[in-house]
Amino acid sequence: MVHAPERPPEGAPPVRINLYSDTQTRPTPAMLDAMMRAEVGDEQHGDDPTVHALCDRMAALMGKEAAVFMPSGTMCNVAATLVHCRPGEEIIAHETAHILTSEGGAHAALGSVQILPLKGPRGMYSPDSLRGALRGKSRHTPTQRLVEVEQTANTGGGAVWDRAVLAEIAAIAHGAGLSTHMDGARLMNACVAAGIAPAEMVAGYDSVWLDFTKGLGAPLGAVLCGTRDFIDEAWRWKQRLGGAMRQAGVCAAGCLYALDHNIDRLAEDHANAKALARGLAQMEGVEVQDPDTNLVFFTIAGTGVAAEALQRRLRMEGIAVSLLGGRLRACTHLDVAAPMIEAALGAIRGALAKA
Ligand SMILES: *Cc1c(COP(=O)(O)O)cnc(C)c1O
Repeated sequence: MVHAPERPPEGAPPVRINLYSDTQTRPTPAMLDAMMRAEVGDEQHGDDPTVHALCDRMAALMGKEAAVFMPSGTMCNVAATLVHCRPGEEIIAHETAHILTSEGGAHAALGSVQILPLKGPRGMYSPDSLRGALRGKSRHTPTQRLVEVEQTANTGGGAVWDRAVLAEIAAIAHGAGLSTHMDGARLMNACVAAGIAPAEMVAGYDSVWLDFTKGLGAPLGAVLCGTRDFIDEAWRWKQRLGGAMRQAGVCAAGCLYALDHNIDRLAEDHANAKALARGLAQMEGVEVQDPDTNLVFFTIAGTGVAAEALQRRLRMEGIAVSLLGGRLRACTHLDVAAPMIEAALGAIRGALAKA
């Protein structure tokens, strides 16, 4: 049984090209400087001005009434479920959704809700499959309460949901009396890639959150947005879950810095991901999914090399990639510069040729 995070293979050098995840960015000196100078107070007490500034700014950016600062995106998802749903109710989501695959069963363990998994390519389901999943109301069926989407769809390859499809899904959900929730871990990647303002992208979603520890490069924090009543209730769950903090302005200042400096530059990550995908596509036996944003999923079944073996060989050269459900994933971010893409492609080519 594996409960603790995996460690690097023995004898592995330090990572010099980190394509493992955009969660592994280090705060830059300028971000740390902003954090050091933050005005702080007791966040749990409502006294931290920097946290208030971040929440006000996020509510405005998302076009919602209010926002709450959370330690993590997972806590945003869990608190949102706990506010939207009662025990025995059902959430409709894609079968690869983070809430279903990667939150330790929190929604069942803490919310006593079940998740109805929908299929569909690239981590997305169609308006028609949502229509088909709606249950009639009877005493046999669970009460459906919430429709969830992930923008971008992580294991769908960082795929960007089309704005019109999002709007149609929200309209179907609301028409059936269900609420809508958007897991916006990488929402800004989607907004930058599509050239659509966040408030417009998330219109129709009753709750939405953004992670500051993915492409935005902050060390800690996520912000959940919704109506004032929703956020009041989410605050109660934040308290219950142990997410109420003290001088959290130190972290909120890093998030504010990220909003000012690290959004437009996501386009560079997307360009780097495209370059990586182009290079991989030229390799014999490698299948790569064309990336919309910063996540490049690829398989190497045609090369005769096992995915684990390539991951290990690269790690022994100081290059980290992740392995998710048999597919390799390379993620571009703040700490990955264009020349590193060329270097990584060279290393992958070399590792495959050696086999
Ligand atoms: C990372 C991620 C989360 C969870 O966020 P944490 O800040 O790691 O708790 C949720 N959903 C998606 C799609 C993610 O990629």
